[in-house]
Amino acid sequence: ARQPIVMANWKMNKLPEDARTYIESVANAITAYPSVEPILAGQDVLLQSMVEAAKGTAVEIGAENVYWKEEGAYTGETSPKVVADLGVQYVIIGHSERRHYFRETDEMVNLKALAALRNGLKPIIAIDEQIQTVSNNEHMHWIVNQVIEALKGVTPEQMTDVVLAFEPTQAIGSGTAMSADMAQKDLYLIRETVSDMFNPEIAEDLRILYGGSVKPENVYEIMRQHDIDGVLVGNSALDPDNFIELVKLTH
Ligand code: 13P
Repeated sequence: ARQPIVMANWKMNKLPEDARTYIESVANAITAYPSVEPILAGQDVLLQSMVEAAKGTAVEIGAENVYWKEEGAYTGETSPKVVADLGVQYVIIGHSERRHYFRETDEMVNLKALAALRNGLKPIIAIDEQIQTVSNNEHMHWIVNQVIEALKGVTPEQMTDVVLAFEPTQAIGSGTAMSADMAQKDLYLIRETVSDMFNPEIAEDLRILYGGSVKPENVYEIMRQHDIDGVLVGNSALDPDNFIELVKLTH
């Protein structure tokens, strides 16, 4: 069985001292739900504080982005090697906001995913979609294509460290999640694509998250779906009480 993930993506929010208070307030409560893997992602400048605060707790830490080179003259970029060295375990790659505001292409997403794996970071590769702009066929092709492009050159062995996340752009920050059964269909499509690329066992073991306006009110219905193995949560999870509630309802 695939271990469920509840992951908060703080995006560009919170101060270093918030990292400590947030983690302190969730760490104890979530020990009651050890079946769930709890992950917090924060911006680079918070990672050190987050890792320190999470030490000795079940909470794992993720970055929100990394560059695809380990070192060199790339002013302002963040090395996956340094992020891993801090004690960070995960990194979100190709978030919808990176793809749209910062023009990240499928090729960049692929390079970043490979760099994360090479440096011992587990990539959570985000797949997006634009519901209203495409027909059903285009919609399916759009998703399948992103999965294929993102996973180019990833070895079957490395797939045990990969997590995928499906985040429909329209649902992000809107307050309204995609309907759980529609999300299930898209996640099934993603799993089938991975099965075709690798094999059915790898696809069966792969964890795929849904993201986009997940909150305590809708997480149960979302997590009930066969192919949804966890949630990636922005706004709602800025509040530590909601994070605890999400873990509780997922467990
Ligand atoms: P919201 O939960 O705020 O919709 O954000 C989802 C998201 O982008 C998580 O990565």
